[in-house]
Amino acid sequence: MSYVTGLKCRECGQDYPISPLHVCETCFGPLEVAYDYAAIRKAVSPAAIEQRPHNLWRYLELLPVDAPPQIGPNSGFTPLLKVERLGAELGIRNLYIKDDTVNHPTLSYKDRVVSVAISKAREFGFKTVSCASTGNLATAVAAHAARAGLQCVIFMPEGVEAGKIVGSTIYGAQVVIIRGNYDDVNRLCSEIADKYGWAFVNINLRPYYTEGAKTFGFEVAEQLGWRLPQHIVLPTAGGTILPKVAKAFRELKEVGLISEGECRVHCAQAAGAAPVIQALHKGADLITPVKPNTIAKSIAIGNPADGFYVLRAVRESRGWGEVASDSEIIEAIKLLARTEGVFAEPAGGTTLAVTIKLLAQKRINGDETVVVSITGNGYKTLEAVGNAITQPYVIEARLREFDALFEQLNGRRSLAGAA
Ligand SMILES: *Cc1c(COP(=O)(O)O)cnc(C)c1O
Ligand SMILES: [Zn+2]
Repeated sequence: MSYVTGLKCRECGQDYPISPLHVCETCFGPLEVAYDYAAIRKAVSPAAIEQRPHNLWRYLELLPVDAPPQIGPNSGFTPLLKVERLGAELGIRNLYIKDDTVNHPTLSYKDRVVSVAISKAREFGFKTVSCASTGNLATAVAAHAARAGLQCVIFMPEGVEAGKIVGSTIYGAQVVIIRGNYDDVNRLCSEIADKYGWAFVNINLRPYYTEGAKTFGFEVAEQLGWRLPQHIVLPTAGGTILPKVAKAFRELKEVGLISEGECRVHCAQAAGAAPVIQALHKGADLITPVKPNTIAKSIAIGNPADGFYVLRAVRESRGWGEVASDSEIIEAIKLLARTEGVFAEPAGGTTLAVTIKLLAQKRINGDETVVVSITGNGYKTLEAVGNAITQPYVIEARLREFDALFEQLNGRRSLAGAA
């Protein structure tokens, strides 16, 4: 049974029935799914949820689908890792990463939002699913569409990483590269959505898609023993995940799954695509679009659809936000890999680099509980770090060559006791 009561305009509050609608006809505000929280409160308990399968559907009552879905059986419930070695290096005692580098099947947080959007597309009876993507969304839509038996058309800007293109075409999706940036792609896709009647997961199915991002926040709270961390640092691209994690924390209180605690929600953007941080630092409500230029391509959005709600969630939680330059992003990717054996894509490097800045600014203290959101896997973005790593040594298959190399690298001749 579903606890969804309908769609509601986030600005004027007008109600709409559950349908593939995303903007209010009166005020053009975005629509959001509304729930009967009082009924959910009676239906859920930590003990009941803990017995469910380890996927994002364990929070079914707080997700906008009618029936138990078949999409995403292995998506979500990724590890919340206590990172002792990184924590020691930074001076944070209770440091965690929420590790969506191992989200299935496409290794990013997008498997969450797409599981929900494609479940809903099926309920609505769509035959073709589509998206405007900076890369990770493309791979997730293509993979989940294949499993759902739906046609799939993907739109991406030129310049996305090879792993994101191969990682979409392999599933049988038709991939269209647009000469332009993500914001150009998005504009075109709005027109295509109207004309072709397809389910664009992040356009006409956006109210359902964005709800899937709440599961990132639900899991963090559950994995901390149904408590909130004192800080969470999240990357922002289009502005889905950050406000939805804040919403997830509110909902957990609303339905009685957690009883107390406040979490500061901090925003991380790449310096080359930071319209939200610029507005935050100016104290402005209005977000001025920028032209993105950063190696963090998955979060390179110059005109974020929900940027305003990111600002609001950050301010309401008394959080903050900073930017990371491309070189800071690369250093942070290497730091996480070297200390914890986790290879993040640039979005994860951005969040970690920003966490380090917030710590230096004393907005985060070393004795607080901090969660760094690692939203995507570095194996999909090898281009980003390819030039910044130690190159391998190439030798002939002769022991004498290795002896010479060993001596050169370690400054000693004897192998005895070298291990
Ligand atoms: C899409 C994406 C994000 C965040 O995007 P939002 O639109 O703000 O939710 C973060 N990290 C990665 C790796 C992504 O692909
Ligand atoms: Zn409205």
